[in-house]
Amino acid sequence: HRDGAFRWVLARGLAVRDADGRAIRMAGSQSDITAGKVVDPLTGLSNRVLLIDRIERVIEHHRRRSGAQFAVLFLDLDGFKAVNDSLGHETGDRLLVELVPRIRRCLRASDTCARLGGDEFIVVLDDIGDERSAVDVAERIQDQVGSLDCVDGCEVRISASIGIVIADASYDRVEDILRDADVAMYRAKTAGRARHEIFDVGMRQPPDERLALEGALARALDQDRLSVVYQPIVSLPSGRLLGFEALARWHDPERGMLLPEEFVPVAEESDLIARVDRRVLREACRQLQAWREAIPAAGPLGVSVNVSRRYLESGHLPHDVRRCLARTGLRGSDLELEIAESMLAAEAPAMEAAFGEVGRLGVRVAIDDFGTGGCPLARLARLPVASLKIHRSFVGDLDAGSGSEDIVGVIVALARSMGVAVIAEGVETPLQRSRLHALGCDRAQGYLISRPMPPEGIPDVIVGHGRRLQLTT
Ligand code: C2E
Ligand code: CA
Ligand code: CA
Repeated sequence: HRDGAFRWVLARGLAVRDADGRAIRMAGSQSDITAGKVVDPLTGLSNRVLLIDRIERVIEHHRRRSGAQFAVLFLDLDGFKAVNDSLGHETGDRLLVELVPRIRRCLRASDTCARLGGDEFIVVLDDIGDERSAVDVAERIQDQVGSLDCVDGCEVRISASIGIVIADASYDRVEDILRDADVAMYRAKTAGRARHEIFDVGMRQPPDERLALEGALARALDQDRLSVVYQPIVSLPSGRLLGFEALARWHDPERGMLLPEEFVPVAEESDLIARVDRRVLREACRQLQAWREAIPAAGPLGVSVNVSRRYLESGHLPHDVRRCLARTGLRGSDLELEIAESMLAAEAPAMEAAFGEVGRLGVRVAIDDFGTGGCPLARLARLPVASLKIHRSFVGDLDAGSGSEDIVGVIVALARSMGVAVIAEGVETPLQRSRLHALGCDRAQGYLISRPMPPEGIPDVIVGHGRRLQLTT
């Protein structure tokens, strides 16, 4: 293709003959069948590429015949993760395969069924008389899914939550249809599963992308699609590796890789953030212990985990921490919890109680983004704090000489008087590092030392950090 991509082409040719039967020329065609090549290998259904192409055609078709409607059903299984977890992925896969003829049974030949990935399916009903007929199909599919009670000789219990978009020519982008169907599906799910909901524009407020993102994140948590990256923290005078900050990452099949800035604000509006935090806490503890077992040099390293206000106030944190420590055999002092200073701006007894409890487990608490949050000093002095993390904006300004040297100096002096450590985050240049060192900062973290890395990269850092990371000033 002119754009550099390769396409699959079906080449057909035949001889054109004259009246005497002599071949006089070749006639042929080249058909682009790239889309036809793209099926889901597990189920043989269309995959996303083919689906999008299909919906585009349906939109085009309906544009020419005004008034006609079609429907898109977004189907997500309930209870699929439990099957995968308890019976294994192979059984999970077989379940998906067995669902295909059951779903197909509810469709006409002209309808399309596609698998988006995981346990998500899309059904396109080409022409529907009215809303009711789309609902009928959804209900038949739900009956079919619910009646699958045995896979590989094992008992299973699943159901389907379905979001329905009744679409007409007013939709001209496939993404909009899929997004609305996703929003409706999420509604069905949160309304108690095994239900269907018809999308209406009212569901778009509050802002639809937020809701869709929230739904997608909830599913990512269900399906364990959140991962953790680790950013080294080093001692500033010696360059010695001290540990890592664990940072959440989310790989979404549609949206690609999402950074916390994109999903943490959304997650913070619901209890999802506590699930994110718990997931990262568990995974970071498990991972640190695994490194310790595999690499002797990892022995003294610790891990820092970010904790949100909701998680801290939920009351679950101390219990979760206790369990993580018990499971992994880590000591409380191997773990540091990072709490943003802004969370401490207002009086919060539930939070202070949680602080006290984790403090008794020996877990250290770091005040994150220090200098931006407005925590009264009297409150700060009351809390069992082990370190202050200087927000990266102050570190960034150290190059410019815009007065942040004074701020960093004040934070270091405060930390000294409280007897706690100071960590500078966002260290990007050697100049920043040497100024921080001169100002008495104890530890550093930032791109200069290392970017956050997936766990596979960390053993090399642990083993070779003295040599590989040129850290000393
Ligand atoms: P944070 O706790 O201040 O984390 C440090 C952020 O600074 C990370 O961004 C890190 O990648 C970035 N960073 C590190 N070194 C440098 C540098 O040299 N220069 C610059 N410009 N940036 C640097 P990330 O991973 O995108 O995380 C952003 C924020 O999201 C975090 O800020 C934290 O507040 C929040 N977050 C991340 N993971 C979690 C989590 O599991 N739970 C909660 N509640 N919040 C999280
Ligand atoms: Ca942090
Ligand atoms: Ca920070």
